[in-house]
Amino acid sequence: MILPAAIKADKIDKSDTTLLVFRGDYNYPPLEYLDENGQPAGFTVELMKAVSEVMGINMDIRLGPWYIVKEELQKGKIDGLIAMYQSKNREENFDFGTPYLYMYHSFFANKDNTFKNIENLDKLEQPVVILQNSSYLQQFVLSYNKNAKFIIVDTQVEALRLLAGNKYDFALLPSLQGSYLIDKYKLSNIKRIDQDLLPRGYGFALKKGDTLTMNRLNQGVEIIKANGKFDEIYNKWFGKYNENDFRQFFNKYLLLPLIIVVLAFILTIVAVFILRRRVFEQTRQLNLELSYRKKTEEQLKIQKERAEESDRLKSAFLANMSHEIRTPMNAILGFANLLGEEGISPEEQKEYTELINLNSKVLLELINDIIDVAKIEARQLKILKEPFQLNQFLNELYKVFSETLKRQEKNNIQLRLKIPESINEITLNTDSFRLRQILNNLLGNAIKFTHQGFIEFGYNISDDMLQFYVKDSGIGISEDKKELIFSRFRQVDESHTRNYGGTGLGLSISAGLIKLLDGDIWVDSASGKGSVFYFTIPFEQAEFIEKKPNPSTPKKINGLKILIAEDIIHNFQLIESFLKKENTHLLHALNGMEAIGIFQKNPDIDLVLMDIRMPVMNGFEALEGIRKINPDIPVIALTAYAMTDDLNKLKQAGFNDHIVKPVSREAFFEAIQAYA
Ligand code: ADP
Repeated sequence: MILPAAIKADKIDKSDTTLLVFRGDYNYPPLEYLDENGQPAGFTVELMKAVSEVMGINMDIRLGPWYIVKEELQKGKIDGLIAMYQSKNREENFDFGTPYLYMYHSFFANKDNTFKNIENLDKLEQPVVILQNSSYLQQFVLSYNKNAKFIIVDTQVEALRLLAGNKYDFALLPSLQGSYLIDKYKLSNIKRIDQDLLPRGYGFALKKGDTLTMNRLNQGVEIIKANGKFDEIYNKWFGKYNENDFRQFFNKYLLLPLIIVVLAFILTIVAVFILRRRVFEQTRQLNLELSYRKKTEEQLKIQKERAEESDRLKSAFLANMSHEIRTPMNAILGFANLLGEEGISPEEQKEYTELINLNSKVLLELINDIIDVAKIEARQLKILKEPFQLNQFLNELYKVFSETLKRQEKNNIQLRLKIPESINEITLNTDSFRLRQILNNLLGNAIKFTHQGFIEFGYNISDDMLQFYVKDSGIGISEDKKELIFSRFRQVDESHTRNYGGTGLGLSISAGLIKLLDGDIWVDSASGKGSVFYFTIPFEQAEFIEKKPNPSTPKKINGLKILIAEDIIHNFQLIESFLKKENTHLLHALNGMEAIGIFQKNPDIDLVLMDIRMPVMNGFEALEGIRKINPDIPVIALTAYAMTDDLNKLKQAGFNDHIVKPVSREAFFEAIQAYA
């Protein structure tokens, strides 16, 4: 331990060996008292001995009754007292050394007493406090509760014993001695209340004016405090209670600031945490908003592009459509006019009629295409599977397209049909009408986009799928257009100066149909290198049942009396011309109402042909009226509505059959013969 320079041990002058006579209280344990051998003992005794030793002082310490030893000093009979509380009064009679202890008083009470703070003493009606006779202490207690009563005792031990009897509220005693005595006499039902009261300096006292001794003793106390001797003595006597002291000191001086600092720290951390969370939350929100905005912007951009694209497509489609309609219309009107001119030869007449027919078919195909697209989109297109013979079917197609090539004078294109050699015939169960539509479209395209070389079509069987192909040596399709040609209205060349006609509907219809048939379509092609269109459909074989020709056909329709309800006069005339050579009796009604009237007057009518859309009364209502007169009369609907839904409606209404307009001769006779 390093000592201050002024009090270095080797600088101490130990030459003065004059005997100093010191006295102390013989009954103030554990500070000073006579032990069982009658020898001075206690904290202050040992302390003064240590100070004497370190300072080389020759000191005689004896103990006696307090009032005597105090008087001896007052009269100057002795040099000093080893310990005395400092007070203003006493300072007039004695000189005090620097206090080596700060002593407190405490309230002592029974263990189960919940009293904690002297500030609350006034809450008790009349507290009874045991204490040694001291007006100073009484005044102190009365300042908190003026009704307090006192029990005065001679010794601290007596005070504690009285308190242990559980009759009185408190004992007010010096803290250290109180704790020491409780321990010593094992007064386990008494506790010290944790509150330090009346701090007072406690140290040695000298007769007035002995500055030399005063300095030596003060110096000695400082040395033993610095070299650890003081702590050693203190711990020996009060170590047990030291902890308590420290806790009190801690509670008194450090606890509150520490709590404030800790709270402030926690608050700061909480505030920082909350702020960070807020910042984090706001950043997250902002990021979300930002990405949401970005997404919305992107979507808007995509939608705008789509709208522009669809606008552009719509214009292109309308232009195409207009072109595709006008071309055959032009031919139909032109040749129809020529037919009306005078002096045309029978050959010319035949040629013009054929051309009008051909162009009408083109127009009708276009309308069928549009209806098919609408049906596919509305999921109204129904697949009707029935067994048929595939190879025979393909051979028929081959013949038709050979004819087409010839008619179009594309003699430099070779048409080939490749059927796997091992397969003689297959009875396939699928919708042959739709399969024909798909192959018609693919072969039609192949012819359209091929100028020379070959067109080959056929199929292969792999697992449970049939894979068809249509291969050509035509203009091919560039990589970037391969996907889009399957979308409706899309063509490789979408400019207004196209080399090839078409509406861009064929492949999208084919793809739609193949999907309905549970298959797939794709193309393998490169610009200028020809194309191969592949498509698959499930390979479902079935037993082929040949359709027996209806034995009752062709029935004689001679002599039939037919009522035709049709508001458009030309349509009536067309039917009239079909039946010109047959010996039939035709009645014409211009609307449903008229039809009912005529039917009523002619109960011998054999058959009714009923247009659906008519003024005054439509075909459905007229059917109802007619059936009321004769529930069994066959009524065939004449309709331009060809959608599945429309046809179902006709069935539900009770029509026996229907003929779809434009009415072909074959379809017409097929329908009416069933009712002849
Ligand atoms: P359309 O033939 O009426 O234009 P499609 O839907 O049948 O309509 O075909 C779409 C487009 O696909 C055609 O316009 C053409 O650009 C391209 N295409 C189709 N088949 C072939 C083919 N065999 N060779 C080259 N291009 C083709």
